Amino acid sequence: MTSIPLDEVSSDPRPRAAVVVAHPDDETLWCGGYILTHPEFLWRIVTLCRGVDPDRAPRFRRVLQRLGAEGEMADLDDGPDQAPLAVEQVQETAARLLAGSSYNLILTHGPMGEYTRHRRHEECCRNVVELWRSGRIDTRRMCLFAYEDGGRAYLPRVRGDADRRDILTDAVWLEKRRLITDIYGFQPDSWEARSTPREEGFWCFDSAQAAVERAAVSGQPS
Ligand SMILES: [Zn+2]
Repeated sequence: MTSIPLDEVSSDPRPRAAVVVAHPDDETLWCGGYILTHPEFLWRIVTLCRGVDPDRAPRFRRVLQRLGAEGEMADLDDGPDQAPLAVEQVQETAARLLAGSSYNLILTHGPMGEYTRHRRHEECCRNVVELWRSGRIDTRRMCLFAYEDGGRAYLPRVRGDADRRDILTDAVWLEKRRLITDIYGFQPDSWEARSTPREEGFWCFDSAQAAVERAAVSGQPS
């Protein structure tokens, strides 16, 4: 577990925002530009998987430092066969990682993931939304990543029905890509480096019920 003790940050007057993702690198790929351009928040970034990955875990800690965020990693199964995880296990893990705080904003995966197809992304979305609905996590607003890849026809791009879309400046996009290549260590011709979206998109909700309805919709656009 990697965590900055809460007493080091509890006097920080900034509003709290959290990112809940399946894997270290998802925070950079899907909302790294948003984090970089919103330093008014005290960011907490948590991952459900890879907490004991000897390669990825230290890279994640360096990214947290660069983003000025605190964070923590759990270590749910992330094996190649992607067996479904127990709902209760995912929910307990996500609730614990969010450390009982109240947030102004939580960002997490979309209900269909961001590309075709990663079960952990979809499980993360469903369970974080459900935690909000059931009152086990507290946030004023939740935004879900809104990307699709046309069923692998192209690299992930912002969905046409996203509520919010931000085109990143060159400087922000290059910094985000630098985190992916220089800190995470992906090769420039890797899927991750080529995907690193220059435009970020989100569905945003001020009520849990609206998020539940969005999370219940499935399938890529036809
Ligand atoms: Zn991922």
